[in-house]
Amino acid sequence: MTTVQWYPQWPAAPERHLCTDCGVSRTDHPKRCATACQFIQPDYPQMEQAVHGVSRQPEGNELYFGPHQAMWQAAMHSPAQGAQWTGVTTRLAEKLLETDQVDAVIAMAPHPDDAWRPMPVLVTKAQDMAQCRGMRMGYAPLISLVEPALQQGYKRLAVIGIPCQIYALRALQPQLEREQGLQKLLVIGTPCSDNTTTDNFHQFLARLTPTPEDVTYLEFRADYKVELRTRQGAVREIPFLSLPLADLPPDFFPLTCRTCVDYSNVLSDITVGYMAGRGEQWLLVRNARGQAMLDMLQGELMLKPVTTAGQRHGPVAGFLKNVELAAGGLPLRRMPNWLRPIVSWFMPRVGPRGLEFAKARLEMKAVEAVLHLRREEPARMKHMLPAHVWALVKPYGLSPQQGETPSD
Ligand SMILES: Cc1cc2nc3c(=O)[nH]c(=O)nc-3n(C[C@H](O)[C@H](O)[C@H](O)COP(=O)(O)OP(=O)(O)OC[C@H]3O[C@@H](n4cnc5c(N)ncnc54)[C@H](O)[C@@H]3O)c2cc1C
Ligand code: SF4
Ligand code: SF4
Repeated sequence: MTTVQWYPQWPAAPERHLCTDCGVSRTDHPKRCATACQFIQPDYPQMEQAVHGVSRQPEGNELYFGPHQAMWQAAMHSPAQGAQWTGVTTRLAEKLLETDQVDAVIAMAPHPDDAWRPMPVLVTKAQDMAQCRGMRMGYAPLISLVEPALQQGYKRLAVIGIPCQIYALRALQPQLEREQGLQKLLVIGTPCSDNTTTDNFHQFLARLTPTPEDVTYLEFRADYKVELRTRQGAVREIPFLSLPLADLPPDFFPLTCRTCVDYSNVLSDITVGYMAGRGEQWLLVRNARGQAMLDMLQGELMLKPVTTAGQRHGPVAGFLKNVELAAGGLPLRRMPNWLRPIVSWFMPRVGPRGLEFAKARLEMKAVEAVLHLRREEPARMKHMLPAHVWALVKPYGLSPQQGETPSD
């Protein structure tokens, strides 16, 4: 009997404005979206308090990345085949199943018809976690598997997810514990940014290569390059500046992903990303549950302190200028073609690196959230933007206008 369950015949998701189909709208009680959704009226300070026992410090690294006890540059000693980086994420879940600390893991696997399309699965055997490795582009209703899992008697769960899914999961957690017998929940989160529909992503791939069907791997790396791998074993690196991003239609990235305020997955127990990893992985241990999970990988995982270099202010200010121009429908300030290879050579050497790169990305994301909401959904700003977002954009001259904060 298979130990992986998935539900290929989902009905279409109910229509929701600003929705990444996290799965709540497909449950028996879809009205819970009103309180579970990060795009309606999120309350990060209260949720951080509920999950970690503390909310973020208003300064220092926590202002950017949310509550955490430790931060590491990391890599598995033996990188896992098919993993996005070295496979820390799926190895953590594998280990939880191997050591019987959870009954099941809910994660994403590739859809059998399209390997780039995420497909939520319920995994009960450690060896089946391997098929979840790698990044998919798009949205799929991860959280809709939680209640079926509980109904089948899997009361100790681990969930791997991106921030908008984990916000909803944490919002439902008290009710799941109270009414559906959830006994244990461990959350392994990844950061997330610039997601789009799987169909849009296929169009993007087709602009990068004449043979998009051969591409099996893509990553936006912290050294300002996109890495592509093909099924024939070829590896191609494309500097960010050479990407055809400016030619994409304005709605290529849905408004959700242009205005999402939780890049680093602050409600997970442990976040596994790459941004401050200097070419390796980047771990944020957020609480004692996260530390206990990390301890399971002792001997398998290399850990180093994170480092930082470069200055982010100039690149973030330049980014803000371009977002303002794009949001106003004006042409972007494009770099002359002859300058691109020179800047592409310099950026990995002198641009923000390590922690400075991660902070730059967080600030850019905050800038995007403010400017795109101001243009497209101004009435939502006071509910959708937590105070820390305003603190991140302040050094760049952005501050709340009348009606943009809850106190108005
Ligand atoms: C759309 C997207 C954007 C991302 N952007 C960033 C970023 O800007 N900065 C950063 O540091 N990290 C980002 N990540 C995370 C990063 O790509 C790696 O997944 C992470 O570093 C873990 O690497 P790993 O080798 O440990 O993962 P693996 O062991 O290969 O496991 C990857 C896990 O990701 C999950 N997953 C894959 N695709 C999806 C999806 N579409 N939705 C939900 N879960 C999924 C799977 O369940 C799987 O268990 C992003 C991930 C996604 C899905
Ligand atoms: S909670 Fe999930 S399903 Fe509901 S509106 Fe938000 S993203 Fe969509
Ligand atoms: S960018 Fe934000 S809203 Fe979009 S899929 Fe990722 S976490 Fe969800």
